Amino acid sequence: MAKFQCPSFSSQATIDLDAIRANYRAIGQHVGPAYCCAVVKADAYGLGARRVSAALHREGCRNFFVAQLCEAVDLHHSLPLDSTIFILNGLDPHGVPMCADRGFVPVLNSDSQLRAWRDHAAETGRRLPAVLQFDTGMSRLGLDAATAHILAEDTDFSREINLRMVMTHLACAEDREGDANAEQLRRFRELSALFPGIPVSIANSAGAALSHAFHLDFVRAGIGLYGVPIAHIGIAPVVALRARILQIREVDAGTRVGYGLTYAAAVPQRLATLAIGYADGWPRNLGGVGAAFYQETRLPIVGRVSMDSMTVDISSAPAATEGDFVDLLGPRQTLDDVAADAGTIPYEILTRLGARHARAYIEDGITTMLMPGEER
Ligand SMILES: *Cc1c(COP(=O)(O)O)cnc(C)c1O
Repeated sequence: MAKFQCPSFSSQATIDLDAIRANYRAIGQHVGPAYCCAVVKADAYGLGARRVSAALHREGCRNFFVAQLCEAVDLHHSLPLDSTIFILNGLDPHGVPMCADRGFVPVLNSDSQLRAWRDHAAETGRRLPAVLQFDTGMSRLGLDAATAHILAEDTDFSREINLRMVMTHLACAEDREGDANAEQLRRFRELSALFPGIPVSIANSAGAALSHAFHLDFVRAGIGLYGVPIAHIGIAPVVALRARILQIREVDAGTRVGYGLTYAAAVPQRLATLAIGYADGWPRNLGGVGAAFYQETRLPIVGRVSMDSMTVDISSAPAATEGDFVDLLGPRQTLDDVAADAGTIPYEILTRLGARHARAYIEDGITTMLMPGEER
């Protein structure tokens, strides 16, 4: 049965896969000879894990990190067999057989995950692949030093488990001045030395900008691939976002706008209601703070952001008409800018954009349009 395809759209995200590939090359060159792995969890930060991963595979990437088993299953069939999918959150209690049967590599973070994977290996008589994550100070996920020492002495462990990598994660990778990174690196070196010959990994995107001592064998890059600048590495922007003008009105001084009537026009103004709201991932707290752009012209958001729309002042853009698109993300307003206005980080802006935007994927200079709801 042919799936209904929406004939039109009111907002559009453009995702430049060529730029993602260029960013992969740039990070890889910067950290070389360390190998750059791609972190494609949370649907590649909302950009579409299947398409992003396929593009990165064409660029030579073979190691992909997701957070959850379901994400690994979703990605599995769109990646050639020479790829490895690592699961950062490790094992789901009910997902152990599936994880083993499909050849996914769990990052074992806790003693119970370790136990479950080893038991499954012993029961099925298979040597199962795994990554060990050690907690070196972030207190989020990871095994402790005592477990590391026990495992290093345990001959059954290496019979049951094919150890593919030992890793940890930095709590303050963006902070180049503090001593937290050096302390985590010191602790990690101590623990990883217990597993000689096993590849090691500590850096995320921000870690790639730290000194070479942090690059080790594998860098796990996410946000840098998706166009958020990293110090010292030339990163190209990846995402643009635009939304249509639904309605334009001229208002008198004193006219109030939006839920709660929180905004009052001080002078006569020309207002436009845009087809984007917080259900499209546009943060509600940008009401009265953020902006859209009509070409070079900044259009301040007036009043509250609604679920499906928000209103901007277009008094200084007389050429704008109903049906036109205005820019929300692009050269004049980056993910970093929007995150700063919304009091959050670009990761959150990106991962919340959601499924209601039409998507234009650019690869090899060719644009493929996907309408809202169409399978990515
Ligand atoms: C999300 C994540 C990454 C990628 O981080 P970026 O800052 O997006 O590069 C790397 N490692 C772990 C353990 C993560 O959870």
